[in-house]
Amino acid sequence: MPNVKQIIDGHNKAILKTAETAQPQKNEGNTRSCRKKEDCPLNGECLVSEVVYQATVTTGDKKETYIGLTATQFKARYRNHLMSFRHEKRRNETELRKHLWQLKEANKEFDITWKILAKGKSYTNLTKRCNLCTTEKFFLICRPHLATLNKRNELVCTCRHRRKFILRYNRTCGSQRL
Ligand SMILES: [Zn+2]
Ligand SMILES: [Zn+2]
Repeated sequence: MPNVKQIIDGHNKAILKTAETAQPQKNEGNTRSCRKKEDCPLNGECLVSEVVYQATVTTGDKKETYIGLTATQFKARYRNHLMSFRHEKRRNETELRKHLWQLKEANKEFDITWKILAKGKSYTNLTKRCNLCTTEKFFLICRPHLATLNKRNELVCTCRHRRKFILRYNRTCGSQRL
């Protein structure tokens, strides 16, 4: 008879399995679409890019939410989030990871669902602005109930999408936003 811990471990592993068994990829922009729609975190739409997304982590009757953005394909970012259990030293990289680690250590069963909140063009030299980062900030400031895990200090993070356009990039943000 498996004990409760084994059952929960098995459940959580099943959630993370989709991410781990996904096709190997060369880079973030080269991800393949999911073979089965039901295995897809976004119902077959996971190759979208330049989006602000929301993760909802459900534990029993408690829900926590996290908002993030990605200029590249969502699927790669999603996998990066879920693969965090393999790399304990990266556990504090995002508030979502921190939360998942806490649940794992408390031996709590969880489910994660994902959705796209908005699209936004990332920085270009022509526009000199990053609508993607602006859109994420809008949600963090104006819709904080959609982002219960996000911390206020994330608002001071400068746009990292300008990196492509400048020679030297000084990271002013302590934690990497994923
Ligand atoms: Zn997919
Ligand atoms: Zn940006």
